[in-house]
Amino acid sequence: MWKIYLSPPEMSAVERERLLHAFDSGWIAPAGPDLDAFEDELCALSGAAAAVGLSSGTAALHLALEVVGVGRGDDVLMSDLTFAASAFAAAYLGARPCFIDGDPHTWQIDPELLRAELAVRAAAGRLPAAVVSVDLYGSVADGTSLAAACAEYGVPLVEDAAEAVGASRDGVAAGRFGQVGIYSFNGNKIATTGGGGAIITDDVALAARVRHLSTQAREAVAHYEHREIGRNYRMGNINAAIGRGQLHTLDERIEARRRVYQHYLRTLGELPGVRFQAVPVGCVPNHWLTTVELDPHEFGATPAEVLAALRAERIEARPGFMPMHLQPVFADAPVVGGAVSAGHFARSVSLPSSGRLSSDEVQMIADIVASARR
Ligand SMILES: *Cc1c(COP(=O)(O)O)cnc(C)c1O
Repeated sequence: MWKIYLSPPEMSAVERERLLHAFDSGWIAPAGPDLDAFEDELCALSGAAAAVGLSSGTAALHLALEVVGVGRGDDVLMSDLTFAASAFAAAYLGARPCFIDGDPHTWQIDPELLRAELAVRAAAGRLPAAVVSVDLYGSVADGTSLAAACAEYGVPLVEDAAEAVGASRDGVAAGRFGQVGIYSFNGNKIATTGGGGAIITDDVALAARVRHLSTQAREAVAHYEHREIGRNYRMGNINAAIGRGQLHTLDERIEARRRVYQHYLRTLGELPGVRFQAVPVGCVPNHWLTTVELDPHEFGATPAEVLAALRAERIEARPGFMPMHLQPVFADAPVVGGAVSAGHFARSVSLPSSGRLSSDEVQMIADIVASARR
């Protein structure tokens, strides 16, 4: 269908070799030496004391919220601009997601809005059970400010770094700003295990609890004994083997995506009415998805027209995330602000961002975007 995909998996000989090695060793699933090594490598990458490989980023969010104490009837404050899985995880636990608008330049959850909302809720005696911050498009939210606001009110922070594996801010790896961070290794993310996720944390007891809950909460006895409700959420060894290869080649792939981003920035950044996601000082994104906002009047074309022009050439591009407060399924959920995220949805286009794109291909995409103008 597509000639150029938005963000396809990028495999090399390293991933293939790890996969075959795991296969030939007989360690297919469930656990195995590659899963142990993958977790160690996630700790080395992030600086976290513990990591647990899971079946998806969504599963990781579900367990992260569960172990920080989210339960039925609770509120969970979170970024309005995110992929729906962040909010689904709260819903799985019977909690209610409440959305906080983004910053107009970075599009990440606005720490001042969060702080103000926490103050209002503290005064009313209805603090949320947790806050979920999201690192959007491979950049990193202002985790230091968000963590400080949460600490002030004693509310746990979960960092949804599903898109930000390998990114950092002020020398701190994405996923490290809250009590628990989560990564996704879904097929469209910058590092994939074919499908998978992980939690990272410095709290080793918390990690042990996630591991326990992810393996059907089976007690450490010979027979099948369970004292609480478990989930079948553990990552398989074969998936972890692919993931090890992806971590091994991560730096090169981030560098390649950065070149693609810089090429778009050089060409499209010159045009009127084009805004790139602001990169704060000290932030090193992984450039998972290069996303731009287009002002139709200044630019001379609507995002829909740009997407249509790309589609005609069989190039896959998409609008940016639809904010959660506009999702029919969350129509009843409270939202603080929402104009920034709604504006982002109306104006944004995510461009093909694979590091495998040649310079000519990126130039061709940029030319198609530019020529959509009236
Ligand atoms: C991809 C993504 C998830 C879900 O991860 P899966 O591995 O696909 O379940 C959660 N949050 C965000 C922000 C994501 O982009």
